[in-house]
Amino acid sequence: MFMNTNTRLVSPEFDYLQPKTLAEAFTMLADHGGSAKLLAGGTDLLVQMKMERQQPSHVISLSRVKELAGITEGDVLTIGATTSIRDVSRSGPVIAGYTALQEACNAYSTVSVMLMGTIGGNICNASPAADTAPALLVHDASAVLRSGKATRTVPLRDFFTGPGKTVIQPGEILTAVELPKPAKGTGSAFLKISRVVADISQVCVAVVLVRDGDTITDCRIALGSVGPTPMRMKQAVGALIGKRGTPEAFAAAADIVAKDITPITDVRATEKYRRHVSRIIARDALLTAWQRAAEGAAK
Ligand SMILES: Cc1cc2nc3c(=O)[nH]c(=O)nc-3n(C[C@H](O)[C@H](O)[C@H](O)COP(=O)(O)OP(=O)(O)OC[C@H]3O[C@@H](n4cnc5c(N)ncnc54)[C@H](O)[C@@H]3O)c2cc1C
Repeated sequence: MFMNTNTRLVSPEFDYLQPKTLAEAFTMLADHGGSAKLLAGGTDLLVQMKMERQQPSHVISLSRVKELAGITEGDVLTIGATTSIRDVSRSGPVIAGYTALQEACNAYSTVSVMLMGTIGGNICNASPAADTAPALLVHDASAVLRSGKATRTVPLRDFFTGPGKTVIQPGEILTAVELPKPAKGTGSAFLKISRVVADISQVCVAVVLVRDGDTITDCRIALGSVGPTPMRMKQAVGALIGKRGTPEAFAAAADIVAKDITPITDVRATEKYRRHVSRIIARDALLTAWQRAAEGAAK
């Protein structure tokens, strides 16, 4: 049987632009409008172009725009949009204070994809399976969006609007994600289940817990690959805040998670399997985050 196989490397032809500053990038976006696409590491975009799901007339590479790369610590932790997943996973401040994000980056496919893929590309691509999304959600991150004229900061919980869709407007570029400092007594964790290591998740979960002695004073839970966007679990969180952090309380919250998610059956997993695994890894992530919170470090 003959298959209609696309043997071209990338199709069809496009113009490749390499701005050196954000100002140049905004001008190029304005000049070429809706037919242009931004390129960071290309690990999503080039796959989509190869599959002819995207056919931009102009590809604007952000790799030479220095102001978009790197991690800086101030009142918030600012991670530039083109910072590679590998650099995020090795960053001192991330290791010290944002364990769920570090674990999400470490769970990411292969080293070659970690080196090319960026944190900005991961969230702008808006896959429900994006590994950094649940971690950034529980760390209460915000997206910094700039156009040629204005800057706005959008909480990540309001950023994703559907599969492949975000609040980014034409002419805007994600310049950074900002993470507030973790409160004293914080612990966090990220867990991922996938078919093989070099694959996106069947289910992933991120948790942040804040404890005061035996009491849970704050909590955030988010999952990936279980709905049209990365999902925050408000009901399970409501069942935990103000309660004692016990294995029973975490198991009950994980039961709520498994009921609240809206997974589908696809090539990676069945809906039933996703619910089953979500319950288990949500409980395990809660227990791990709770123990880490007890260790005293703000993580
Ligand atoms: C083999 C393989 C394995 C993978 N494994 C994983 C995995 O384990 N976990 C996971 O989460 N993902 C995985 N992915 C998906 C991909 O690597 C990630 O989503 C990656 O982080 C995308 O980043 P990028 O820089 O390559 O994005 P690009 O492909 O360059 O861009 C992605 C999209 O975001 C837009 N964009 C990029 N930067 C900006 C910006 N600053 N402002 C506005 N829009 C922007 C682009 O226009 C494009 O639409 C895998 C991909 C491959 C090919």
